[in-house]
Amino acid sequence: MPKSSNKVFPIYSGGHGIHDVINELRKQAREMIDEEHFYKEHGFASCFECDETFEDLDVLAEHQMEHLVKERTLG
Ligand SMILES: [Zn+2]
Repeated sequence: MPKSSNKVFPIYSGGHGIHDVINELRKQAREMIDEEHFYKEHGFASCFECDETFEDLDVLAEHQMEHLVKERTLG
């Protein structure tokens, strides 16, 4: 499994660690919602990785996905 630059949660056989993964995903989902509120208020949102700002959330999502793909292939 490629190493992410963010947190890595070990998942052991038997399901140990899965709750950490779920909690982290919930946290990230909340942060994304916060970002949407920010977007509605300010009309732009910034990339979590490089802080570049985007006025189109779809473009931002695609841009952020590129970071994630790079992390997985180069990291
Ligand atoms: Zn970026």
